[in-house]
Amino acid sequence: MTTIPVTIGLSRPRDIADAAALGRPGDPLVDRYGRVHRDLRISLTDRCSLRCTYCMPEQGNEWLAKSSLLTLDEIVRIARVAAADGVTTFRLTGGEPLLRPDIVEVVRRLGEIEGPDGRPVELAMTTNGIRLPEFLPGLAAAGLRRLNISIDTLRRDRFRDLTRRDRLDDVLSGIAAAAASGLRPLKLNAVAMRDVNDDELVDLVEFAVAHDAELRFIEQMPLDAGHTWDRSRMVTRDEILSTLSSRWELTPVPGRGGAPAERWLLDGGPRTVGVIASVTAPFCGDCDRLRLTADGQLRNCLFSTTEYDLLPIMRAGGDGVDDGIDRMLRSCVDGKLPGHAINDPGFLQPARGMNAIGG
Ligand code: SAM
Ligand code: SF4
Repeated sequence: MTTIPVTIGLSRPRDIADAAALGRPGDPLVDRYGRVHRDLRISLTDRCSLRCTYCMPEQGNEWLAKSSLLTLDEIVRIARVAAADGVTTFRLTGGEPLLRPDIVEVVRRLGEIEGPDGRPVELAMTTNGIRLPEFLPGLAAAGLRRLNISIDTLRRDRFRDLTRRDRLDDVLSGIAAAAASGLRPLKLNAVAMRDVNDDELVDLVEFAVAHDAELRFIEQMPLDAGHTWDRSRMVTRDEILSTLSSRWELTPVPGRGGAPAERWLLDGGPRTVGVIASVTAPFCGDCDRLRLTADGQLRNCLFSTTEYDLLPIMRAGGDGVDDGIDRMLRSCVDGKLPGHAINDPGFLQPARGMNAIGG
C-alpha cells in the first residue's frame, strides 16, 4: 500500500491510521463540511503573454522549473483518478493555457476521459484569447466544450497599461473567433477596478451581448504576485449592480448551485450578466472546486497556504501511483477549511500569484 506523504499545514490533520475515514478509490470526494468536489481546475503553465497588474509583476517572475512541470501523461493520469472519484468538470487555465505547445493534445486526451457512469467529462478553458484564432478549430475538434475569455477594457491605451502589452486587437480577434464558433455558453471575464475600468461596466456588458456572450465581473482578489491588493480600491458587487441598474432592469437568475457567479437577467432576459463576489459575498459553503498547479501541487482553495505535492508520487512510478493520487486528493479535500479568510484581520496572502495557482 502507498503511504500518505506528510502534508504540513492541515487545519486538523487526521492520523495516518485514520486514513480509511477519507474514503476509498471511486468514492466521491466529500470534505468535512459535506461539500462534494466535482470540479478540477488544471493549470497548464505559470507563463503568460500578458502581465495583468492584478495577477503578475511586470518583471522578476520566478518561473516554475521545466523539470517540475507535469507532463501530458501525468496530467491525464491525475485527471483519470479524479474522474473516477466523481470529478465531472476539468477547466484548463494558467498562466495562459494556450502557451502550452501540446494544448490540443492535452484537450484531446482529457476529453477522452469518462466518469464512473460512462459519461465524458466536461472540458472548459479560461484564456486571455490571444492565440484562439490559431487554435480554436483544433481545440473544438479535440473536445473542448466551453470557453471563458478575459477582457477588462475595450480601450487600447488602458489595455496596454493594465496588461503591460499592446495586444487588445489580438484579444478582440480571439473573442470574435469564439463568437463565430459553436462553443456555448461563451463567457467573458472582467475584473472590476476603481479608476481603471469602472466607467466601462455598461460598455463591457454591451460588448458581450453583441458577441452572444455573458459578461462576468470579478471582484479583485488579493492574489497579485506583487501583493499590492488594497480593499479600499476594490469595486464591490453592490457597486457593480448599482451601475448596471442604471442601464438595465436586473432580475436574479435562480439555481446557482456551486457556481461562483451570481447571475441576473438583463431587462427580463434572455441576455444575462454575472458577478463573482469572492470578497464581499463569498460562496465557500457551496464550493466544489479543487486546483492542480502546473508543477503538480493540489490546492483546495485559491487562498489556501497549503499545497499537497503530487510530484513525488508521479515520479516514483510503480504500481502505487493511482492509489497515491487518490489518497492525496482525499487528503487535500479533507484539509479544506469551511471558508477563505480574506475578510479576517490575520489573512495571509498565498505565496504564489494567481498566474501560478491557476484562476
Ligand atoms: N490567462 C488566462 C486568463 O486571463 O483568462 C487564464 C488564467 S487567469 C489567472 C484566470 C482568471 O483569473 C482571469 O479571468 C483573470 O482576470 C482572473 N484573475 C487573475 N488575478 C485576479 C485577481 N487578483 N482578482 C480577481 N481575478 C483575477
Ligand atoms: Fe496572464 Fe491571465 Fe494573469 Fe492576465 S490574468 S497576467 S492574462 S494569467
